[in-house]
Amino acid sequence: MNPEFRVLVLEDNPGDLRLLREMVADEGDMRFHLNAVSRLMEALEVLDDEPYDLILADLNVPDSNGLDTFQSLQKSAPDTPVILVTGNTDESTALAAVAHGAQDYLVKDGLDARALTRAMMYAVERNRVEQERRQLVAILEATTDVVWTITPDGRTRFLNQAGHAVLGLAPDIGLAAVDLMEHFAPWAMRLVREEAIPCAIRDGVWLGETALIGPDRTEIPVSQIIIAHRSSSGRLLFLSSIARDIRERKKTEERLARLAQFDPLTGLPNRDLFRDRLTHAMQRARRHERLLALLFIDLDNFKDVNDTLGHSAGDQLLKEVGKRLERCLRAEDTVGRLGGDEFTVLIENLESIEQLQVVLDKLLRELSTGVPLAGTEVFVTASIGATLYPLGEADTETLLKQADAAMYQAKSSGRNNYQFYSHELQIRITQRLALANDLRRAVERRELTLEYQPQVDVMTGAVTCLEALVRWNHPRDGLISPRVFIPIAEQTGQIGALGDWVLRAACRQCALWRAAGHPHARVSVNVSARQFRLTNMVHIVRSALDDAHLDADALELEITEGLMMENLNAVEGVLRELREMGVTLAVDDFGTGYSSLAYLKHLPLHCLKIDQSFVRDLPSDSDSAAIARSILAMAHHLNLSVVAEGVETQEQYDFLVDEGCDAVQGFLFARPLSPLAVEAVLRSGLALR
Ligand code: C2E
Ligand code: MG
Ligand code: MG
Repeated sequence: MNPEFRVLVLEDNPGDLRLLREMVADEGDMRFHLNAVSRLMEALEVLDDEPYDLILADLNVPDSNGLDTFQSLQKSAPDTPVILVTGNTDESTALAAVAHGAQDYLVKDGLDARALTRAMMYAVERNRVEQERRQLVAILEATTDVVWTITPDGRTRFLNQAGHAVLGLAPDIGLAAVDLMEHFAPWAMRLVREEAIPCAIRDGVWLGETALIGPDRTEIPVSQIIIAHRSSSGRLLFLSSIARDIRERKKTEERLARLAQFDPLTGLPNRDLFRDRLTHAMQRARRHERLLALLFIDLDNFKDVNDTLGHSAGDQLLKEVGKRLERCLRAEDTVGRLGGDEFTVLIENLESIEQLQVVLDKLLRELSTGVPLAGTEVFVTASIGATLYPLGEADTETLLKQADAAMYQAKSSGRNNYQFYSHELQIRITQRLALANDLRRAVERRELTLEYQPQVDVMTGAVTCLEALVRWNHPRDGLISPRVFIPIAEQTGQIGALGDWVLRAACRQCALWRAAGHPHARVSVNVSARQFRLTNMVHIVRSALDDAHLDADALELEITEGLMMENLNAVEGVLRELREMGVTLAVDDFGTGYSSLAYLKHLPLHCLKIDQSFVRDLPSDSDSAAIARSILAMAHHLNLSVVAEGVETQEQYDFLVDEGCDAVQGFLFARPLSPLAVEAVLRSGLALR
C-alpha cells in the first residue's frame, strides 16, 4: 500500500531526525512517508520538483535561521502546510511563524509519538479542507452569476465578485453595509420577502424570476434560486442565493413572441395579433363614439398564380399585395394576413361612408394593377367584404364573421368588387352620416328654430318658465325631432355650436318678451353633457346674456344626471360659477340616470324635473306613483322645487298636485309653442283645470 501523505522533513540534526522517524514508525502509522533533507536549499529544490502534503521543519539549519526559513518554505510551497519542530529556546520565533501562516509548532523536548502524528494528521486534514474551500470560493468568484449568502435575520455574509459588479458595489465595501433587499426592483423585493424566502424556508428551495437593480438604476431580470441551509439538527443556518442575468433570454423571448404575432412572409400582423388589435379598436370606437371599418380581402385568382408560376412566385405576390394594401391606408390603420391569400384591414376613426368608399375603390384599383412576377406581368383582383362598427351589438368574432360573409357576397357578385355586410344597416349609417353633414350647415341656413313649452305653477297658474326646444326643418326630409339629431350632434361634436345658437336665440327671445311687457318671463335651455364638456359654459352663458341684455335670473339651464356622474369636481366648479352669476339650474329627466343623493346635496341646484316616463302611467301604476312620491319627498327635503314633465291628463295632474309638485309641463296645458303663441299665453295666462 502506498503511503497516503508525503512529508518533507527539514532537519540538520541526525539525532532529532532519527527520533522523528522512530516516533512515526512507533505509532505504526503507515500513511506518512518521510523524506528528509538537512539544508534549506535542498528542501527548496525538492519542493520545486514534486508536491508534498506536509513539511516538518526545524527553523535553524546550517544555511538558514529563524523566521526566514519558514518564509522561504512558504514561498516555494504556498499550499503545503508547515509544522515547525523547534527547541525550547526558539519557541517565540515559532509562534511568530504561526502568525505568518504556519500550521502548528511542536517543541522537540516534550514530543511524543501520538502528539506528533496527531498534529501531522490534523495539519494535512485542515489544509485539505482549506484547499477545497478555496476551490469552491474560486468557482463562486469566477462565475458571472450573482451569488450570496445571508443569515436567517437577513445580514449579508457572502457576496461574490460578480455580485459586487452587478449591484454596482465597490469590491472592498464591507458586507455589513450591504442590505441585499435594497438591490431588488420594488416588485421583486416584495416577491422575495413575501414569497421566495418563506417558501425556501418551508420547502428548502425556491426558484423563480426576479429583478435586480443595476448601477444605472435599470432593472436586470434574473432567474434566481434561493436555498435554505440547515444543520443536521434542522436549525436554519443561512440562506444562499444564485441569480443569473436573463436579459438576453428575455430579448429572445420577445423576439419569439413577435414572431408568434407576425406573419413571417409579409411581416404583417397575423390572425392572433389582428384579432387583438380589432378588439382594442372596437373598445376605442365605442368609447369615443367613432366608426371603424373591418375589411376582409380575398384574392380572386391567387390559386392560378400558385399553380402556374409556382409557390415562390405566389409568395412574392402575397408580399406585394401586403405592401400595396399598406400603401393605400394610413399609418394608423392595420393590415393583417389571416393566412393563404386572405388579408384583413382595420380602419379606425372613419368620418363617413364616402371616405370608406374612396378607400375601397383605391384598394381595388391598386390590387388590380399588374405585378411583375417570374418574368411576366400578373394580374390579380380581389373581393372585399366590409362591415362597420358600431352598427349594433357585436363582438370581435361576430364582426370578423360579418366581414367574411360580406366577402363571400362580393365573390358571388362577380369578384373584383366590394360588398357591405347588411344593406339596410348600411343605408341607415349612410343616412345618419348625411344628416350629420347637413346639420353642419343647418344653423347658417336658418333651418333651426326654437319652440317654447310653458311650465305652469300649480298654485297660481302662472307661467313660471318657458323651455326652449329646438326644431330642425330639413329642406328635404321635413321636420326632424331633436331626439334624432341631438344625439348625432353630440357624437360629431356639433352640439357645441348648436347649443351655443340655442342659448343665444332663447336669451334674445326672452329679452323680447320682457320688453313686450312680461318682465317676469324666464326661459330654460337644455344643455347636453357633451356640450358642457366641449365648451366653456360660463363664458358662453355670460356672453349670451350680455348680448341679449338679459338678466341672469331670466335663465335656467337644464342639465342631465349623466353630466354629474362624469366628473363631479370639474362640473361642480362650473355650476357654482353659473349659480353665482344668477342662473338657476334644473336637473332634466330626473330619475332616468344614476341619481345619487350625494351630488344633489352637493350641487347648487334649484329644481328637479321628473321624467315623463314616470308621469306617463300615473296614477294607476304603483311603481310610477311610488317613484314620483319619493322624488317629491326627497326634493323637498333638499329644498329643491319639482317640475313634472309630460303631464297629459287631469288624473296625472291631480295626483301630482296632491303629492306637492310645484309646477307642471305638458300637453295638458300647452304643447311647445312658437314665440308668437307664447306671447298670447303670457298675456292671457293658462287656465288651470
Ligand atoms: P326634454 O328636455 O325632456 O324635453 C321635453 C320633451 O318632452 C320635448 O320633446 C317635449 O316636446 C316633450 N313633451 C312635452 N310635453 C309632453 C307631453 O305632455 N307628452 C309627451 N309625450 N311629450 C311631451 P322634444 O321637443 O322632442 O325634445 C326632446 C328632447 O330633445 C328634450 O327632452 C331634450 O332632451 C332634447 N332637446 C330639445 N331641444 C334641445 C336643445 O336645444 N339642446 C339640447 N341639448 N337638447 C335638446
Ligand atoms: Mg328639457
Ligand atoms: Mg325631460
